[in-house]
Amino acid sequence: MRKTSIFGATGSVGQSTIDLIRRAPEAYDVVALTGAGNIAQLARDAIELRADVAVTAREDQLPALRAALVGHPVEAAAGDAALKEAAQRPADWVMSAIVGAAGLVPGLEALKQGATLALANKESLVCAGQLLLKTARDHNARLLPVDSEHSAVFQALVGEDMAAVERVIITASGGAFRDWPLERLKSATVDEASTHPNWAMGQRITIDSASMFNKALEVIETREYFGVDPAQIEVLVHPESIVHAMVGFRDGAVMAHLGAPDMRHAIGYALHWPERQDLPVERLDFAKLAQLSFRSPDLQRYPALQLAYDVMDRGGLSGAVFNAAKERALDHFIAGRIGFLDMADRVARVMQRFDRDDMGLDDLMTLDAVRRMDHLARVDIDSLL
Ligand code: NDP
Repeated sequence: MRKTSIFGATGSVGQSTIDLIRRAPEAYDVVALTGAGNIAQLARDAIELRADVAVTAREDQLPALRAALVGHPVEAAAGDAALKEAAQRPADWVMSAIVGAAGLVPGLEALKQGATLALANKESLVCAGQLLLKTARDHNARLLPVDSEHSAVFQALVGEDMAAVERVIITASGGAFRDWPLERLKSATVDEASTHPNWAMGQRITIDSASMFNKALEVIETREYFGVDPAQIEVLVHPESIVHAMVGFRDGAVMAHLGAPDMRHAIGYALHWPERQDLPVERLDFAKLAQLSFRSPDLQRYPALQLAYDVMDRGGLSGAVFNAAKERALDHFIAGRIGFLDMADRVARVMQRFDRDDMGLDDLMTLDAVRRMDHLARVDIDSLL
C-alpha cells in the first residue's frame, strides 16, 4: 500500500485525485487530507478513505471538523502548524493542490521527508522554484508536474535529451473572454470571468485563465521545471484544449501531447508514474474532432502574459512578488474593489516599484526571503487601491 496525502483535498484537483484513489482503495493508505472552509467534504472523505488525520487550514473551523469526525478514528487538526506537521508525516506520494502561496510550506516539508510530490500548486514553483528544486535534490525526493501543460511536456520529453530541445509550446484555451471585444473587458464581472469554456476548475484559476495570469504562471513554471530559456517558451491560444503542449526539437520534429480536458489524466500520470495505468478519461474520437486551431495570443487582451517574461528576466525573488501581487489583485477583483483589467495594471505597477536588485537573489532564495517578498508585495498592491 502506498502512503498517500492530499493537500487541498476539498478542491477541484483534490477531488479529482480522490476520485482516482477511491477506485482502488486497497492500493492506498491515506495519511492526511487537508482543506480550509469545506469541512463537510473534508470529514466525509477522511472517514471514507480512513485517513489518519484531517486538517483544516482555518483554526476557527476546528470545532466543526472535530464534531464531524466524532466516533471515527480520524484525528482532527487546524492551522498552518498542523498543515506543516501533516506534511512531515511519512508518505510515499503527496498531492500538492492547495491554491496559492499557502501551498509552499506543506510542499517543502513533503519533499524534506523524501516523498514524491505531485505539484498542482504552480504558485509555489513560481514564488520559490529554486528553493523547491533544491529541497527535492537535497532530500532525494521527486517533483512531478500535475498542471496539464507541464505533464504534457514531461511526457513528450520521455527518453529525450534536453540539449536537443529547441522550443516548448504550451497552449491556452483563451479563457472566458477570448472572443469578447477588448472594450467590453473593462466591465467584465466576477461571474462572467468564473466560467471556463472547456475546463471545470476552482474559481481562482478559472478567473486567472480569463486574464491569462494562469498562463503567465505556467510560463514561469515551464522555465523552472524544464530549465529552458524564456525565449524557448511559446504560448499558443488553442480554443479546443485538446493539444496541451508541444515540444520542438533541433531536427524540426514536434512531439505534441493530446487528450480530453480532464485533470484526471495529468493527476493519474503523476500517480502511476513511471507506469501508465487505465484512467477513466474520455478517449479522443479524431473523426469527431472538427478542427484543432491555434493562434498567437494578443498581448493587448492578455497583458499578464508579458509580465511573465519580465519576471523571468529579473529572476530571483521576482516570482514571489509577482505571484503575491497577482493573488491580491484577484482578491480585490473578486471583492469588487477593482475591475478585470485593473488586475494586470496593478501587478505591473507593483513589479515596477520593486527594485530589480532586491529581487535578483537567486543564490539566497530562502523561505524567509520568499515570505518577506510575498508580504511586501501584498502590502504594496493594497496601497494602490
Ligand atoms: P480550489 O479552489 O478548487 O481548491 C483549493 C484547495 O485549497 C481547497 O482544498 C481549499 O480548501 C484549499 N485552500 C484554500 N485556501 C487555503 C489556505 N489558505 N490554506 C490551505 N488550504 C487552502 O483550487 P483548484 O483545485 O482549482 O486548484 C488547486 C491548485 O492546483 C492551484 O494551485 C491551481 O493553480 C492548480 N491547478 C488547478 C487545476 C484545475 O483544473 N483546477 C489545473 C492545474 C493546476 P476549501 O475548499 O476547503 O476551502
